[in-house]
Amino acid sequence: MQSVLHPILTFLYPPQCYHCQLPQESHQHLLCKDCLGLLQLSNVKLGRIATAFELDGPGASLLHRLRKKGSEHIAEALASFLLMRWDSLKWPMPDMITYVPSPWLRCLDRGFTPSLLLAKYTSRLFDRPLYSLLHSNYHLAQVNLSHARRKELPLNCFSLKKNQNLQGKVILLIDDLIGTRTTMNQCIEALSSGFPKAVYGLTVCGAID
Ligand SMILES: [Zn+2]
Repeated sequence: MQSVLHPILTFLYPPQCYHCQLPQESHQHLLCKDCLGLLQLSNVKLGRIATAFELDGPGASLLHRLRKKGSEHIAEALASFLLMRWDSLKWPMPDMITYVPSPWLRCLDRGFTPSLLLAKYTSRLFDRPLYSLLHSNYHLAQVNLSHARRKELPLNCFSLKKNQNLQGKVILLIDDLIGTRTTMNQCIEALSSGFPKAVYGLTVCGAID
């Protein structure tokens, strides 16, 4: 069946590099050789928050695709870069992995949560359990609010779920993309209310400095 379907699929969806869009020979590769050569881990880090890639380049293109389509194989590939970045940071081995939750309406609209997909594969690579520890108290309607109205909202858009035992644990918090440090800081603050030993935040791309 596979051998019959493959030429049809290749005809309908010719393989392309997810960064430069040039045609490729196989669907197996996410990036062409040239773009693969451009893939470089970022060295952006601020305290216990770090990113794997800069905001542009092939890494960002893969993330863009993940956020659009929710592709499992891209999530798996990006999780391996998160692991490499974590290794370069010399952070301690986490006891548990968690992720930045999306507003539930956005999850419903997309049908997937990019940060959860990444955290799932990161948890497998680390061989550490994945927990959903945070609630998002943020609603999509808030996106269009003026700066002044936003200031009236509760200070933290995230809260720790009930009955979580985080005491003395090292937690690795995964996000796909951070626009500002606020989201990551608010999640770390919410997790800290459970008295973990430490929380480290790792994102594929983002502006944290
Ligand atoms: Zn390319």
